[in-house]
Amino acid sequence: MSGERRSSDRILIVGAGVVGASIAYHLTRLGHDNVVVLDARDRTQFPGSTGLAPGFIGRLSASPELTALARDSVATYRALSRDGTDEVFWQVGCLEVATTEARLEQAHRDVEHGRRLGVEARVLGPAEAVALAPALVDADRVRGALFVPGDGAADPVLLTQRLGAAAERAGARFLFGTPVTALEREGDRVTGVRAGGEAELLRADRVVLATGIWGPVLAGRAGIRLPMVAVQHPYLYTGELPGLDDTFIDAPIVRYPDHCVYTRRHGRRFGLGSYAHSPLPLRPSVDLVSAERPFREADFGAALSDAASLVPVFRTAPRGRRLNGVFALTPDELPLVGPAPGVDGLWFAEASWVTHAGGVGRQLANMLLETGELLVDPAWLAPGRFASRSDRWIHETALAHYQGIYETH
Ligand SMILES: Cc1cc2nc3c(=O)[nH]c(=O)nc-3n(C[C@H](O)[C@H](O)[C@H](O)COP(=O)(O)OP(=O)(O)OC[C@H]3O[C@@H](n4cnc5c(N)ncnc54)[C@H](O)[C@@H]3O)c2cc1C
Repeated sequence: MSGERRSSDRILIVGAGVVGASIAYHLTRLGHDNVVVLDARDRTQFPGSTGLAPGFIGRLSASPELTALARDSVATYRALSRDGTDEVFWQVGCLEVATTEARLEQAHRDVEHGRRLGVEARVLGPAEAVALAPALVDADRVRGALFVPGDGAADPVLLTQRLGAAAERAGARFLFGTPVTALEREGDRVTGVRAGGEAELLRADRVVLATGIWGPVLAGRAGIRLPMVAVQHPYLYTGELPGLDDTFIDAPIVRYPDHCVYTRRHGRRFGLGSYAHSPLPLRPSVDLVSAERPFREADFGAALSDAASLVPVFRTAPRGRRLNGVFALTPDELPLVGPAPGVDGLWFAEASWVTHAGGVGRQLANMLLETGELLVDPAWLAPGRFASRSDRWIHETALAHYQGIYETH
């Protein structure tokens, strides 16, 4: 692409969650300042998945592509953190607690796998694991743990604000309170969007959908099927505990892959999530205004109480907020990043986790600007890669990953 086209083409991003903000950040870092980001939300509210995510960032994955995206994300999140004063990411490491012999053997294989992917990891004995996170590691059950020192915890809202602020300083424009109601099409080309109460036409050379769980809503209006499934997921906080500092996080994030449980400190509180329940899909519509759904005891109560009995601090701490948040899965756990199949001018960056959003933003920005500097072969992330599969296959295959999420993420 020529420099002239780069500076004049307007790229319009729909969605200012962590993914949309990351794309704007990377586009402007690459020198492209004609970027407009539209979001229905107002500047300070985060009704999407980003506003509910507890921010576990683990780079080691069965998929080398996810590891590449996560490694790059961590590099960006670290660069955006002002160490010791104003972090958006704390590189405290990740402990994967083995409570079975099989998991401990897996941990040794993961060290080798990590070495091949450039992620340092080592296996710790039970006492070392407990010493790193006594509030979170069950001393009676731990047989050892995989420790990945370069992983950590993000604050997804602060991170998104930091990405957006950097993009705005570099020339991107963010228009909040601006719902996009339709994609403007001329034949096989998307030429802009209709937005706001007056359905005003905003023209653009390229339109990127980064609308999270709402991706299929606008894509469906353009006649495009996005192969992703939204699922509901529970997360539980303790109340605020005395003696804990508000911002400082001093222990690794902790996962119990054998139990589908994960837990971390959030300043004065601790939090945990569990996948040990039947997957609960949801079909987002234009009327869904938030990714938070009512918490139903019948759906999640048993999973959260099992998880709470596993994590020492939860056995005694007072309970705080519990929530049911929605995020998106794909049949192969990889996000949908790249041009829309069969429609010029339309691009997607959907079904990405916070963990991968930095890398997804860089990947898509480089694809849009045709720099040739890609993190991952685009074929792995192509939004049309499941074109031959039925809706039913997509739905069932994506949902089948729900409880095994730690094997890939
Ligand atoms: C309970 C829970 C726990 C999670 N835990 C983790 C975790 O530990 N680690 C991790 O990496 N990930 C986690 N995730 C997943 C992660 O939160 C999401 O994958 C990620 O935040 C998606 O970001 P996004 O920018 O694609 O979507 P969103 O944050 O949902 O942003 C989409 C934006 O698009 C806007 N939008 C939608 N439609 C329109 C429209 N028509 N017009 C204008 N604007 C529109 C919305 O207002 C929203 O702001 C978790 C999610 C949940 C819910």
